[in-house]
Amino acid sequence: MSRAVPQSLHDLGFSGLVEVLAAGGVIAHHAKALWRALHREGELDLTTRSFLPPLRRWIDASVGGDKAFFLDAPEVVDEIRSSDGLTRKFLLRLRDGQVIETVLMGYDGRHTVCVSTQAGCAMGCVFCATGQMGFVRHLRPGEIVAQVLHARRVLKEMHPHKRLRNLVMMGMGEPLHNIDSVMTALEIISDVRGIGIGPSHISISTVGVVPGILRMAEENSPYRLAVSLHGSTEQERAALVPASKRWSLEMLISACRDYGRLTGRRVFFEWTLIEGKNDSPETAARLAVLLAGIDAHINLIPLNPTGGFSGTASGSGHAFQRILRAAGFPCTFRQRRGIDVAAGCGMLKAERRARVALL
Ligand code: SAH
Ligand code: SF4
Repeated sequence: MSRAVPQSLHDLGFSGLVEVLAAGGVIAHHAKALWRALHREGELDLTTRSFLPPLRRWIDASVGGDKAFFLDAPEVVDEIRSSDGLTRKFLLRLRDGQVIETVLMGYDGRHTVCVSTQAGCAMGCVFCATGQMGFVRHLRPGEIVAQVLHARRVLKEMHPHKRLRNLVMMGMGEPLHNIDSVMTALEIISDVRGIGIGPSHISISTVGVVPGILRMAEENSPYRLAVSLHGSTEQERAALVPASKRWSLEMLISACRDYGRLTGRRVFFEWTLIEGKNDSPETAARLAVLLAGIDAHINLIPLNPTGGFSGTASGSGHAFQRILRAAGFPCTFRQRRGIDVAAGCGMLKAERRARVALL
């Protein structure tokens, strides 16, 4: 029996897979073999692989073409490598033609995948290439999982013995605006029977969607939380992050305090340094007061120029860092060694669009 709307097998957590097999008369035992094929082996063609007969019959009847289920296998439409070869950025086309970015980074022997969670983004941060595009749609869990599988496949080709150990949700989109799909995807990605990236090696980066942060706190979510702050007063922040009109700085910091208290975990704050906007010594001192009492780590990010924003990268990052360190906060610069690959989120897509427009 085929369903009206085909569903991705990559959208399903383990229990979901057990359920759909059960509905097709296949006992739970077989779910493990299918899960292994999908997530441990990263198999994209189930027709050629051998399975026990009941599972084989279900796959033949249910997966592919216009049948009830499909696999998420986005097509690589472009790739850019950094000159040191350590960062590779992929432009992936989804089934409906939407194009998203995924980045594989490998420094000091540690490999990290940076995934997108939405096509475009509704939050409109003024300096962000994705924000400048606007929102298109949320990604399904399977579309997030497929990015990790792709990055792992590429890593395996380069270094057969290296494992993909880290994941950051710092690609296109706002993860906590798509929280249900994100949480399902992360459950799949962290499952040790499959991809097995440890929850403490997974970072969710948010512009400050307060209900999402509170949900992570209440559920004692095992993932790392990174909050993109960029401003130390309502006014300073509102000039860069329109979403702050919806969730004020006060609400956001209070939610971060709740998260720290309830989970006992550190909160990472991201700060894109922009000349004359948020890089003064006074701002650094105010930030230290704002975060007082929070177990906080501050990551400073040099601004990547984007077409739609006239601001420039700050020249006073080190002074800013010194003030925060003197106040007792760990404060580091985000490595941007992949900068020559159009490293900022959404930038490859924006750049490609510009290139195509010239043709
Ligand atoms: N939406 C989430 C995650 C994606 S953006 C968020 O905003 O946190 C990941 C990080 O890249 C954020 O800290 C964001 O502020 C930063 N960023 C976006 N565009 C940038 C640019 N042009 N230069 C430097 N950092 C940028
Ligand atoms: Fe969206 Fe993050 Fe870009 Fe802001 S910085 S527009 S939240 S992707």
